[in-house]
Amino acid sequence: MKEVIEKIRTCTNCELCKTRINTVPGEGAIDSKIMIIGEGPGELNDIYGRPFIGKGGAILDACLQEANLEREKLYLTNIIKCRMPHNATPTSKIVSECSKYVEQQIGIIKPKVIICLGLSAAKFFLNDKNIKLINLINSTNIYRDSVLICTYHPSSIRYNKNAKNLIIKALTLAKKVAFSESEQ
Ligand code: URA
Repeated sequence: MKEVIEKIRTCTNCELCKTRINTVPGEGAIDSKIMIIGEGPGELNDIYGRPFIGKGGAILDACLQEANLEREKLYLTNIIKCRMPHNATPTSKIVSECSKYVEQQIGIIKPKVIICLGLSAAKFFLNDKNIKLINLINSTNIYRDSVLICTYHPSSIRYNKNAKNLIIKALTLAKKVAFSESEQ
């Protein structure tokens, strides 16, 4: 993982290297059974080089707590590793240039479950530009050797009152799938 993180930190494959402050490779336990994968870094993530901090991170942390999952025992990352200017949705060109890194991280961690937060991650893993999150809720898919669970992005709770409950439900399902025993 150290090598992948170093490759990310020094990456100049796309134009985002010119505008980023920091890369955001990901963090957590590399032996985790669960990976949480979002879209890409936002402003604070870019400043601190860490995924899911700030408002979205606080919502995710609250959902993890409700689902009885410890953040430190999971691995958190994003499909793309540098911030899009103005927090724009990553283009398919940037996703295709950057996604080799998340693929490598999945190859190292070999998670039992991948939780996709938001549409960009779901579109990438399901390789379908036309999917709608609402149609994926309460269902599982398979991505390579992992069970894929797609849910809303924590930042969507601003406009979707139901999102927090659905995220907690998805995390609870992930826990059930990942651990045969009740302990994490
Ligand atoms: N922070 C992240 O690291 N990823 C997101 O998708 C949103 C906020």
